[in-house]
Amino acid sequence: MSEFGQLYQELILDHNKKPRNFRRITEAHIEVDGHNPLCGDKITLYLRLADDHIADVSFTGSGCAISQASASLMTERIMGLDTDTAEALYDKFHDLVMGVEVDADSDPELGKLEAFAGVAEFPARVKCASLAWHTLRSALEGKGESVSTE
Ligand code: ZN
Repeated sequence: MSEFGQLYQELILDHNKKPRNFRRITEAHIEVDGHNPLCGDKITLYLRLADDHIADVSFTGSGCAISQASASLMTERIMGLDTDTAEALYDKFHDLVMGVEVDADSDPELGKLEAFAGVAEFPARVKCASLAWHTLRSALEGKGESVSTE
C-alpha cells in the first residue's frame, strides 16, 4: 500500500472509532438530514451560526466507516470558519473526490481532507465520502431540506 493510502486508512479508522463532534446541538439553528441510499449511510448535521461564522457544528448518524469518518473530519475542519470559506471547501472537496486536480495547499487548505483523494478511484465510495458535504451545502444554502445522494 502507498504511504498515501496508509494515511487514508489510518484517518478513516481513527475517525470512525472516535468520531469528533458526534453529538446533537439542542439549540441548533439548522438541522439537516442526509442519506446515501446506495450504501445506507445516514447523517444529521447540526449547525449553530453566529453572524456569518459557524459557531458550532456537530453530527449524528450511522453507516459505513467512510461516511462517518468524513463527517467527523468535516466538522473538525469547518468549525469556526465563515460560511463562504466552508462553501469553498465544499467545492474543493467535491473536486478532490471526483478526481479533479486541486491545489490542496491554496486557501482554504484541505489539510487532512486531502487524504480523501484516493476515493476518486472507487466511484461507489464517492457518495459515502461526500454525503456530509452535500448535507452541509444544503444547510448553508438555508434550504434545510433533507438531502439524498440519489
Ligand atoms: Zn457508505
